[in-house]
Amino acid sequence: MSKRIPVSAGNWKMNGTNAEVDALCDGLAGIDQIRGVEVVVAPSFLQLARVSDKLATSGVHVAGQNMHAAASGAFTGEVSPTQLREVAGWVLLGHSERRQHFCESEEALNDKVRSALEHRLTPILCVGEQLHEREAGDTEAVLKRQIALDLDEIYLPDGFVIAYEPVWAIGTGKAASEVEAQDACAYIRDRVSQLFDPAKANTIRILYGGSVKPENAGTFAAQPDIDGALVGGASLDAESFKGITQAIADAKR
Ligand code: PEP
Repeated sequence: MSKRIPVSAGNWKMNGTNAEVDALCDGLAGIDQIRGVEVVVAPSFLQLARVSDKLATSGVHVAGQNMHAAASGAFTGEVSPTQLREVAGWVLLGHSERRQHFCESEEALNDKVRSALEHRLTPILCVGEQLHEREAGDTEAVLKRQIALDLDEIYLPDGFVIAYEPVWAIGTGKAASEVEAQDACAYIRDRVSQLFDPAKANTIRILYGGSVKPENAGTFAAQPDIDGALVGGASLDAESFKGITQAIADAKR
């Protein structure tokens, strides 16, 4: 199996004044000493340029939290991949909050994934089931549909990043068990293997997201099909995010 570089990604969502975000960036000093993990933070669009400047020498990648698929045009309030590319190298796509509150469809996501790759942005494609879907035994069916539609006719680069985020575990303090997370991530890898090929599937990075903290990050990262974490709340605290990143590095060493 090829060596997959693990990822520690922080989604700052719609949080932080400029002063708070500056302090958070200052608090991340030293994170580059944690070897063997790609670190990514996703501030709001308004703070992307500021955070890119602050973290320019830190080795931390900066991500948008969304983007429009079109390179430019009459799409009031949206941000294009061309604009994003000037301040960020990565982009979150299909976060469950975008799917739930902003009606993001699989078809729109498919366009966004294709466009991000065409514009040399590294997407983190988020997938995951809602609570009622898990309770109905539909987790795999949901993941199968999301992966098939979101990646339809995409040329998938090696190392592509998918975040498995069960919606019921996001921001609830109720993380999935490591067995639930591993099973879902293994299933995602198997779907990619079926849709593309086993060699490609072995290269893709699959992150777990949902109430990750320094205390549980190592347990998730120790699972064979989990290659890191996408972190919401705990990434707003620099020490917690560094702790999570260190735990991932230790588990994958
Ligand atoms: C997220 O928003 O992607 C997330 C995983 O949030 P939290 O870590 O707060 O559950």
